[in-house]
This record gives sequence, structure tokens and C-alpha cells, in this order.
Amino acid sequence: MKRKKNSYKYSYRWGWITVFALIVILLCTLIYKFVFDDDSSATVSSNINAPVESMAPPPEMVNANGVMVLNYHKIENRLLSLAVRVNDFDKHMMWLKEAGYTSITPEQLYDFVSKGTPLPPKPVLITFDDGYVDNYTNAYPILKRYGFVATVFVVTGFLDKYPEYLTWAQAKEMIDNGFSIESHTVNHKPMTELSDEQLRNELIESRKQISDKLGKESFFVAYPTGTYNLHIAQMVKEAGYKAAFTIKYDNVGMNSNVYALERVPIFQTETTNHDFLERINYIPIFEKFGWVKN
Ligand SMILES: [Zn+2]
Repeated sequence: MKRKKNSYKYSYRWGWITVFALIVILLCTLIYKFVFDDDSSATVSSNINAPVESMAPPPEMVNANGVMVLNYHKIENRLLSLAVRVNDFDKHMMWLKEAGYTSITPEQLYDFVSKGTPLPPKPVLITFDDGYVDNYTNAYPILKRYGFVATVFVVTGFLDKYPEYLTWAQAKEMIDNGFSIESHTVNHKPMTELSDEQLRNELIESRKQISDKLGKESFFVAYPTGTYNLHIAQMVKEAGYKAAFTIKYDNVGMNSNVYALERVPIFQTETTNHDFLERINYIPIFEKFGWVKN
């Protein structure tokens, strides 16, 4: 009897030791993941307020008749909300190809909105924000394989400076193959926090750098973190841009404001591909993440 009680205590103690050991292993794994496995994302978020951008767009009115402008950021396999996995991106492009979509340029979209110039049937403008190097290494070969072109809004001050961003040579190669490189300002500061002088510099200097480095003028800008107002839109116009892109969730239609063009944001979720199809069909899925419809 006594012996049985002791062995019970013994196994009880070992049970607790096992639980403790599992917790230690779990903590070590988590620490390893955050400290070693994700080093470059630390640079990204400190540079560009990435989380704000990925969570900003609330669903707006549904307009299934306009032009779809897709908005991606990173195409890579790390578990980041701003990153769509390479295979998933490939599937999205395959889906668009099989559904008969034709990729267009921002210039074509602008001509459609401002002058009514007809677009090819099933047009899609594929855009990337920030100018990450994986747009060149991962997305560009896939896009070429499906015969699509895309537009990259680059943070001009980051090119040739940070390894996670494109080089000017890569941007030039993309331009030479029909892609568009446009402005996402020089430093990716939220525009509502800048003085007029800083704002003017961000807008004019980024255009100048694109023109100097690529020999091609930029007439389009994407608002960093999606923030803008009427005053900012006016300054964008004065800086020589024809149009500006927001992260307002909708299609672009004939009634869209050229300085507040809508886009469809695509980022990683637990069910990225299913969500992609839902989102391009304008089924409001943002409520799933606790975002309130307004
Ligand atoms: Zn951005």
C-alpha cells in the first residue's frame, strides 16, 4: 500500500517535470523564431509602419463593374501578413490568366478614368507597394510566365540602400520588360504627419530620382500607409502626378477620383487563396478580422 502511494507521487512529479520541459522547449522555439528567423522584418517595420498599412482598409461600397487594381506587398514564404507565399501568388496569377484577365498599366487606367479610353476586356492592374527585392526575385518571373505586367510603387530612398529592397538596376530591367516603376515617396512617411515643405520634397524628389535613375518619368504615386486628405491630394497634383492610389477597398470606376484611386489589398491569411477569390469578388471578409464596416 505504502509502496503504491510512493510510485504515484513519483509519476506525478515526473508529469510536472515533463510539462515544465515542454514549456521551456516552446519558449526556446519562439525566442529562436523571433530573434533569428525574422531579422530583416525588424528593419522593415521600423522603416515603414507596415502593420498599419496591412490593417487599414475597411470594406466600402461594392462595385463589381469597374477595374480591379490588386495591391500586393511582399511575395515570399515567411509568415508575415504583408507577404503572400510564392506558390499562392503563382496560383492567383494562374487564376487570373485562366479567367481571361489582361494586365494593364497605370497610364491605361488613367486614360480610362479621365478620358473614357476603352480598356481590354477583363482588365487588371497588378500593383506592389514599397519595392521589395522579392518583387523582382519571386514575383517578376511568375508574372512574365503568365504574360502579365505589373506596377511597383518604390520608396526611392530605399533602393540601392537596404538589401530587402530592389536595386535601381533591377527596377530598370523590369521597366525594359513593360513593367511600371512609380513613386511611393522617398522615405515612406505617413503624409498626414509631414509639413508642406517635407511633403513637397517627398513627392518631387521621388519623381526626380525615378527620372534620373530610370530615364522615365513617374506620373503616379501610392500614398504611404494609405493616408491622405484633400490638401495632400492637391499637393500631389501640383507635384506633377496624374493620379494617386489609396488602399480604399473597391474597384476603380468612371466616377473614381484620380487622386484617390481604389485598390483590392491582398495579403497573407490562414486561407490566402480562398480569401483572394472572395476579395476580388467583393465579398466583405474584413469583418472576420474585427474591422468594422463603415
Ligand atoms: Zn507602403
